[in-house]
Amino acid sequence: MSELTILGGGPAGVGLAYYAHRSGLPFVLYEKSQELGGMCRTFRHGEHRWDAGAHRFHDRDPEVTDDVRSLLGADLRPVCAPSQVWTRGRFVDFPPTPLNAALSYGAFGAARIGLELLKTQSRPRAAANFQDFADNRFGPTLARELLVNYSQKLWGLPAGQLSPDVATRRLHGMTLRSLFMELVSPGRKTAHIDGRFLYPRLGYGQIIERLSACLSKDSLRTGREISGIEVEGGKVRKLYFRDGTREETPGRVVSTLPVTFLVKLLGDALPAAAREAAERLCFRQIRLVFLRLDQERVSPNASIYIPETRYCVSRVSEPKNRSSDAAPAGETALVAEVPCFSGDALDRLPAAALAARVVDELSQIGLLRSERVREWRHVLLPNAYPVYAVGYEREMRTIRAALSSISNLDTMGRAGAFHYSHLHEQLRFGKDYVATLGKRSRPALETA
Ligand SMILES: Cc1cc2nc3c(=O)[nH]c(=O)nc-3n(C[C@H](O)[C@H](O)[C@H](O)COP(=O)(O)OP(=O)(O)OC[C@H]3O[C@@H](n4cnc5c(N)ncnc54)[C@H](O)[C@@H]3O)c2cc1C
Repeated sequence: MSELTILGGGPAGVGLAYYAHRSGLPFVLYEKSQELGGMCRTFRHGEHRWDAGAHRFHDRDPEVTDDVRSLLGADLRPVCAPSQVWTRGRFVDFPPTPLNAALSYGAFGAARIGLELLKTQSRPRAAANFQDFADNRFGPTLARELLVNYSQKLWGLPAGQLSPDVATRRLHGMTLRSLFMELVSPGRKTAHIDGRFLYPRLGYGQIIERLSACLSKDSLRTGREISGIEVEGGKVRKLYFRDGTREETPGRVVSTLPVTFLVKLLGDALPAAAREAAERLCFRQIRLVFLRLDQERVSPNASIYIPETRYCVSRVSEPKNRSSDAAPAGETALVAEVPCFSGDALDRLPAAALAARVVDELSQIGLLRSERVREWRHVLLPNAYPVYAVGYEREMRTIRAALSSISNLDTMGRAGAFHYSHLHEQLRFGKDYVATLGKRSRPALETA
């Protein structure tokens, strides 16, 4: 009999399954696609490998890093690659160095930035939204250049409508101190969101492949799309699948499906207030365009950020700069990320038109020449970013309170917990969850 039923086979689901397996806890995992990995997959095209967006493994939890290293061995390699931002017609190091700041803003601009920084540090305003937060931290000019423009483009809302949590989740490490250290010590990179990181030789998806290789095939049920959940007596009792079959859920159930979708599946089992709260939450999706190029390299960068809204591309990565095994000799590839909402104009653009627009934009900023493009591919990542609009915490509190009435159900994962989390955090949550199962009436849960 299965003790644990896991809904969704992305990193949160597979990570939880892995730690359940290590503890000898029986589990069954249901995943709708034929492949595991969710947004942490590495796609293959000929001899090219490319991830579902620019991924890096953050070495922030030594125990989790050790677990991953024990599976990948020498294939988990350190990468040190710079990043740049395309701003006002030029590429600038990201985060900025004194030289770049001077080149980019000029002497008067740099002096104004300095004054703004001093002013905001001496009189910080309460941060009710992300705009306030960014202004407080860096002053309006740097805030706009470094944080606000890019965040608005990524999340799809004006900075005044975004929660300050956008910063705590995404801009970890980008502090005034880190910028200052770079200003006074050129060439020295502080602990930052970019720079040094770990990366698997065969792409980010290799982590999921190694985790799932340890698990029994019988427990991993791919190609099973959950379309309904039956609750009886305050417990999830049955799952219904798109193919018309159903399965009992004898023990605890952990959902990593988008929480808004979970609420829909639960229907009347939850109060109307929870369903209404879920209607007010949304996700940003990413359209990925992969371009195969017949040239050795485009740039040395891990990522190139493009904050300007006249371009639809928000970020570009070159897989070869993470692992030389990602592309054959004489070729490279670029992967462009285009954020959009389901149903908006960018979402409706046919894939070929989107690819043409991406090539045109990247040509305009001097990243490629269109005649170098041999092929393109398109992939949609739905529910990629939970949108932290002002007030999202209130909606999540309502939903969590309603879900807690179902005694054998928990949620986990990026879309599952509406929590802007990364792979190392998902593995930590899975590990802690399994460790506390049985010790408490309800295991440790991921909260936003
Ligand atoms: C562009 C981008 C860049 C990122 N960069 C990094 C990075 O550098 N480092 C890092 O650690 N993380 C990064 N992440 C985050 C990482 O990819 C996510 O945290 C992670 O994929 C979320 O895992 P998850 O299991 O919660 O969700 P998902 O990966 O979305 O997995 C959910 C799974 O549920 C399945 N599912 C959905 N509906 C059903 C259904 N009805 N029935 C059955 N199964 C279903 C889906 O098919 C999917 O496999 C990035 C994400 C994006 C989008």
